[in-house]
Amino acid sequence: MQRVELQIEETFAPRPVAVRQALQKGTEFLSQMGAASARLDAELLLSKALGCTKERLYLDYEMALETAVKDLYFSLLQRRARREPLAYITGEREFWSLRFHVTPEVLVPRPETELLVEVTLELAKRLEKNHPIKILDLGTGSGAIAVSLAKELDDIEVWATDLSAPALEVARSNALRHGGSEKIHFIEGDMFCPVRGQRGFFDMVVSNPPYVRQSELQNLAPEVRTWEPKLALVGGSDGLDFYRRIMEEADLYLTDRGIVALEIGADMGSDVCRLIASAGRFSPASVYQDYAGRDRVVVARKLPADAIY
Ligand code: SAM
Ligand code: GLN
Repeated sequence: MQRVELQIEETFAPRPVAVRQALQKGTEFLSQMGAASARLDAELLLSKALGCTKERLYLDYEMALETAVKDLYFSLLQRRARREPLAYITGEREFWSLRFHVTPEVLVPRPETELLVEVTLELAKRLEKNHPIKILDLGTGSGAIAVSLAKELDDIEVWATDLSAPALEVARSNALRHGGSEKIHFIEGDMFCPVRGQRGFFDMVVSNPPYVRQSELQNLAPEVRTWEPKLALVGGSDGLDFYRRIMEEADLYLTDRGIVALEIGADMGSDVCRLIASAGRFSPASVYQDYAGRDRVVVARKLPADAIY
């Protein structure tokens, strides 16, 4: 480890370094430090230091870096080598083809969560309604789900909640950035508390709740376990705490035939379907697979009162 540090310092000693060389040395440094996708990370960090796009780097491949840029790039590489997530260093992550602002107060939006957005959109389009579709997003974090939905559907109103005030600030900034803020209400509070007065009101309740089992936190990548907020990750000893809480109350807040759509951990399909069945107010749940072929989203529809016996 120390040898690698020395090599990189040597590379960044006061002499001209071209983009090509900076990328090569940065990539070697990051891969020796154990970061996955080291080349891409080096490209993105150098783009950040230069204030240009990744593509631009290859047009200016032989350009010598100014000392200030070189120093900044070096400090960014060192942050990444300490396994700080790239998204926290650059302050951004792409989700649903939109660039989301992220800080260490929010979970970095994951590509698999796009499936929840996709399924929700599909179901929302099929709802037979004239007035805006009302969606509750529990634990909105960066606002990835709420903002993507607001961006896609004209006739929509979203209530996005989170226990974390700083996370809601990030979510608000993303709604402003992407032009969905007039359609989204951001409210701080514990699960359904912020919408206590809105019984029988929502057409859909969606959530990507924390679902990591407490004992499994230590097995996750250092980027996740040491940098991402525990509040966004841990779902109790069996990972199911939030599904229990959601299914205890979801039917109170949904309209008849309203839909609950939840992201789940890949091995949680049958447990979450069982929780939905034992709530006694929902149609049998469907499970959708993500692009890696893993169970990722569970959907169920609230049965109208006259269908329950
Ligand atoms: N929706 C975002 C996404 O998909 O990228 C973030 C999901 S993250 C897995 C879960 C979120 O739930 C975090 O933002 C966390 O702050 C929030 N959260 C945790 N406990 C909560 C609670 N009791 N009530 C409301 N939100 C909570
Ligand atoms: N997919 C995340 C991870 O394991 C967990 C997200 C969540 O708890 N909702 O990295």
